[in-house]
Amino acid sequence: MTASVLAEDFSTEPYWWREAPRPDWTECPLPARCDTAVVGSGYTGLMAAMTLARAGRDVVVFEAETPGYGASSRNAGFVSRTLYAKLPQLAKTHGEATAIEMMREAGQATDNLFALVEEEQIRCNLVRCGRLLAAVAPAHYESLGKQLDLLSRKIGTEGEMLPRSEQRREIGTDYYHGLMVMRGTGTLHPGLYHQGMLERTATAGAAIHARTPVTGIEETSDGVRLTTPRGTILARDVVLATNGHTGPVTPWLRRRVISFDAAVIVTEPLPEGLMNKLLPNRGAMSDSKVNMYSVRATPDGTRIQFMSNRGLMVRDNRAKAVEMHGHMTELFPELAETKVAHCWTGKMGFSFDRTPHIGENGRIRYAAGYSGSGLPMGTWLGKKLAHKVLGDPEGRTAFDALTFPTKPLYWGKPWFLPAAVRYYNWKDARAVAEGRRAQAV
Ligand SMILES: Cc1cc2nc3c(=O)[nH]c(=O)nc-3n(C[C@H](O)[C@H](O)[C@H](O)COP(=O)(O)OP(=O)(O)OC[C@H]3O[C@@H](n4cnc5c(N)ncnc54)[C@H](O)[C@@H]3O)c2cc1C
Repeated sequence: MTASVLAEDFSTEPYWWREAPRPDWTECPLPARCDTAVVGSGYTGLMAAMTLARAGRDVVVFEAETPGYGASSRNAGFVSRTLYAKLPQLAKTHGEATAIEMMREAGQATDNLFALVEEEQIRCNLVRCGRLLAAVAPAHYESLGKQLDLLSRKIGTEGEMLPRSEQRREIGTDYYHGLMVMRGTGTLHPGLYHQGMLERTATAGAAIHARTPVTGIEETSDGVRLTTPRGTILARDVVLATNGHTGPVTPWLRRRVISFDAAVIVTEPLPEGLMNKLLPNRGAMSDSKVNMYSVRATPDGTRIQFMSNRGLMVRDNRAKAVEMHGHMTELFPELAETKVAHCWTGKMGFSFDRTPHIGENGRIRYAAGYSGSGLPMGTWLGKKLAHKVLGDPEGRTAFDALTFPTKPLYWGKPWFLPAAVRYYNWKDARAVAEGRRAQAV
């Protein structure tokens, strides 16, 4: 079975690394002091470092692996306008005014990303293709309709509902019961976006130290001392940008971030006619299940990228590719004979309230827990972190006031995830079965 599904040149590296290979970073000597030390070189860390360096600060970025090795060069490339947590859920926890402000800011974060790519001339295949949210059952379609109505009234979201009879205009499957089409969102090539940010951060004057894990962070009377295998450094401020890779060096943050491996597959190139049938407008779709499926085309429009959160953790990416190929053909039976060319994983950073967080612990500032919205939100909160370090009022954000929750007995290893995935698979299967019954009527 395995051999029949995997392409001859099957790779467990991200598809994005073909065009944006891991940067070969030259090592430079570690200085004794700096103004700001940034830990992590994904979107959050680079955006903070670039902004600070342009404001004249002496910035040093530490990266345990190669620059961008984390989720920032491995993600699916969906640029959304909303957060994982829904507006009513946010309103219940934070009050309606704050919830609306948070959702508005999520939209601003996306506008900010579009503007950044244009101003910085970052070549990363950014397109405003909109976002399709597909309902697996009629009740989900109804609920998506209510969601769109609420979002358009409260924050001016633009979109339309497309009934099942018309959904093939956007996606070539009968698996769903209609779609919400949300405007103002897009997709990009995550590797090229990261590469562009990396080049601009280095040009702005930030020193980037690859393969230099920070193994200790200690506040002293004259700053924060960071320990690495290559020596120590004294920084006035620290920006922690480790999200799903947050480790034992910051246990207080680690117990607030739920880190887990998410997997992505990309097919071999498909004939143009088939691509036109499956994704006529090359849109980006995710569905209404908790353990959702999501689909988009690669930027050249020739391959399908597919994600499924339905599977349990599988260590072997070849086995994972086979499992996900099975999920993909539920949507697109036409792909039964299509081979998988890439299957890779990356570390997501969720929070217990499915909301991004920004804050400080002494002189260490952090942003994390983006819960799947880190492309726009990591870029946005990275910039906010820099403004906070500069003491600039622009650093203010609606996310300032939130408490970053944790749970008793949680220290950073999400032991509860296998049970949670099974439970949500069961709930999702019931919704899908309800959808099938409705189709049979
Ligand atoms: C498979 C997948 C698909 C996703 N799809 C989307 C999507 O479509 N849209 C979206 O908005 N978001 C998506 N995300 C989430 C998004 O990619 C992340 O939220 C975002 O990249 C986080 O950026 P970051 O800079 O905060 O962290 P990361 O990019 O994860 O970078 C953290 C870095 O910190 C480094 N590090 C950790 N500890 C240390 C240390 N002690 N010393 C030095 N370095 C350290 C790590 O090596 C890592 O490189 C996806 C994530 C995954 C994994």
